[in-house]
Amino acid sequence: MKIADRLKRFEGYEGREEKEGIHLDKNENSFGLPKNFKDEIFEELKETPLNRYPPIDPVVLREKLAGYIGSSKENIVLGNGTDPLLPLIYQLFKSEKVVINPPTFAMYSFYAKREGLTVNRIPLDGDFEISCAGDHMKEPSIVCICSPNNPTGNVQPREKIIDVLETDNLVILDEAYAEFSDTSFLDLIEEYDNLIVLRTLSKAFALAGLRVGYAVGSPQMIDSLRSIRTPYSLSVLSIKIAIKALENKDTIQKSIDRIVDERERIINEFKNYAHPSDTNFILLDLDAYDYLKERDIYVRKMKGELEGKIRVTVGKDHENDMLISALNDFIGEKR
Ligand code: PMP
Repeated sequence: MKIADRLKRFEGYEGREEKEGIHLDKNENSFGLPKNFKDEIFEELKETPLNRYPPIDPVVLREKLAGYIGSSKENIVLGNGTDPLLPLIYQLFKSEKVVINPPTFAMYSFYAKREGLTVNRIPLDGDFEISCAGDHMKEPSIVCICSPNNPTGNVQPREKIIDVLETDNLVILDEAYAEFSDTSFLDLIEEYDNLIVLRTLSKAFALAGLRVGYAVGSPQMIDSLRSIRTPYSLSVLSIKIAIKALENKDTIQKSIDRIVDERERIINEFKNYAHPSDTNFILLDLDAYDYLKERDIYVRKMKGELEGKIRVTVGKDHENDMLISALNDFIGEKR
C-alpha cells in the first residue's frame, strides 16, 4: 500500500492519557450543564428515533444559532465541531498557502499540512498581537486569526483585523471563546465577504462532548461550504441537545459569569505571573506543569515560544482553590 508522501511522517494530534484528578488542560466549561437541565433533555431524547438519519440540513438549529448571534440562517453552516470546518474551508478556496500567527491553536496548521498546503508562520508580536505588514500578504493566502487567542487569551485589535481583511485574503477568524469576552468581530461579516467566523458550542455552552460548531459568513460563501460538506454529519442527538441549549441561554450565561469571576480571582491571585484573559483559561509564567501533575492537577504545558509557561483552564471553585494553593506552594518553594 502506498501512503501519500506528505502524510508518511505526519505528526498526529498529541493525545493525553486520561487520569483521575483535576483536569484544567482542555479549555472545557468545567461547570457543565446543571443536572435538572440535563435530566429534562434526556427525558425528551427518549422519544427520539435512532433508526432514522438526521435531517440533511438541520434548519431549526441554524435558525436558533442565527437568532443567538443576530444574523440569518443563510449566514450559517454547521460542523461536527468547528475543527472539521477548517479543511472544508481550505478545500473550497484556491490557495496554496495558510498563514498562521503562532503561538496559536494547533489545528490550523494540522489541517493545512494534511491538505498539502504550505504553512506560513508569522509570529505574534510581544503583546501577542497580529501584524499584517510584509510580503506574505501579497500572495493569495488563507489567514487564520484566533481572537481571543488560544493559548495567550487576548483579543486582537479591531483595526489590525480590518487591515488583514483589506488585503483581500480569505480570513478565518476563530471566535471559539468569544462568549467569555466583551469583544466579537461578527459584525464585520456584513462588510467583508472574505471573512469567515468560526464559533462553537464546545466552550461557553459546555457541550464539547457533543461536537457542534458553526461557521458564519456571506450567504454565497456559506452556500458553497454547505454544498461540499458531507451529509448527516451532525447526529440527531447533537441537533436536539444543541437546540435545547440555545433555548436556555440564561442557564448558559450563569455559568459564563461564574467562569469569568473565577478567572479574575485566579488572575488576581497571581498578578505577577498571569496574562490578561478574555477566555476561560489563563496563560501563566510559571513552569509548574510537573509540580501540578504530581498533585493530580493537569494543565497544559507550553512549548516553543511559550516554553516554561502553563495554560490553565478555569475550573470549578473548589478546583481553583486547589490550583491556587498548589501554585502558591510552588512559588514558595522556588524562593
Ligand atoms: N478553536 C479554538 C481556538 C480552540 O481552542 C478549540 C478547542 N480547543 C477549537 C477551535 C475546537 O472547537 P470544537 O470543539 O468546536 O472543534
